[in-house]
Amino acid sequence: MKVPLLDLKAQYVTVKDEILVAISDVLESQQCIGGPRVAELEQEIAVLSDCRFAVGTSSGTDAILNSLMSLDISAGDEVITTPFTFFATAGCIARTGAKPIFVDIDPKSYNINPDLIARAVTERTKAIMPVHLFGQMADMGPIMEIANKYNLVGIEDAAQSITSTYKGRKAGSIGTVGCFSFFPSKNLGGAGDGGMIVTNNEDLFNRLKIMRNHGSNPKYYHKFIGGNFRLDPIQAAVLLAKLPHLDNWSVARRRNAAFYDEKFAGTTVQTPYISPDCVSIYNQYMIRVPKRDELVAYLRKKNIGCEIYYPRPMHLQECFRNLGYKRGDFPQAEKASEEVLALPVYPELTDQMKDYVANTALSFYDEL
Ligand SMILES: *Cc1c(COP(=O)(O)O)cnc(C)c1O
Repeated sequence: MKVPLLDLKAQYVTVKDEILVAISDVLESQQCIGGPRVAELEQEIAVLSDCRFAVGTSSGTDAILNSLMSLDISAGDEVITTPFTFFATAGCIARTGAKPIFVDIDPKSYNINPDLIARAVTERTKAIMPVHLFGQMADMGPIMEIANKYNLVGIEDAAQSITSTYKGRKAGSIGTVGCFSFFPSKNLGGAGDGGMIVTNNEDLFNRLKIMRNHGSNPKYYHKFIGGNFRLDPIQAAVLLAKLPHLDNWSVARRRNAAFYDEKFAGTTVQTPYISPDCVSIYNQYMIRVPKRDELVAYLRKKNIGCEIYYPRPMHLQECFRNLGYKRGDFPQAEKASEEVLALPVYPELTDQMKDYVANTALSFYDEL
């Protein structure tokens, strides 16, 4: 049996008709920048996220970059974030000229450890950017308490966690802004790059819209140095066609996760910890295991797709050498990067496939 990490074709066949019509409609209209589909998607995502406003962007990365730029974060500023994330989180901070300040993770949830944030705050700190990793939100209660105490902005990197909740509150709705990604492998994925920013702050909303269009308002008169951070209407149309299925897909991912949880209970394979405060959308199903790299080779030999998210924490990346961090600075992030592994959890997995994945992983340890 062959089980890929993700099978986008399996999903595409279930929504193909709607998607083809939606793309064709955009092409027929020849409104290929902006327009009603983008506005409609923004409206839908705002409602879905319990936020008043949403701004479509060219990617999740550009959602983060636009947010930082619109919040006036620049050289001399510091932004606190996690070292255990996809590059874009820290990359965008650095691209504004600000300095990413890393804080170690909670070893159970893999999200930023709120207990370690306050001691990282300085006079230069402007924002905290928690990442809701693998589909589960960070511990936003204490994070926003610190943000409010020190007058910092909260920027949620919710690229992996659209519609997931913390104490019943939606990802993106707790901080000043929330950023989503529609990269094809995310739970709501487009036919290419796309992203979205949500906020309840109307002034910021207006800035985000201006910044996304080269900072111009009106056209050819530039208030800020912005960029081209626009979401394409073809992407918006594809995403609108997929959106009605998102809840079912999340339910299926949770069902798959529960299946694995049961299979791995009491074994060498440590299953994901989901806080009682959170509902995860399982963008990834992360196990934690001994001999991780050997298991990866074993699974791949047995035609099972798996992936290490993330093999090198941000503080040890070559491009961030100038920040002065070294191995040992964030032991939990470093340990996680050596022990975690994502297994296939996509909605269309069959029971036989899940059985094969779980049994194969367990057989690796039986054979040791
Ligand atoms: C995917 C992702 C991003 C970037 O999104 P793109 O749409 O690929 O630009 C940012 N942060 C995290 C945590 C992500 O997983």
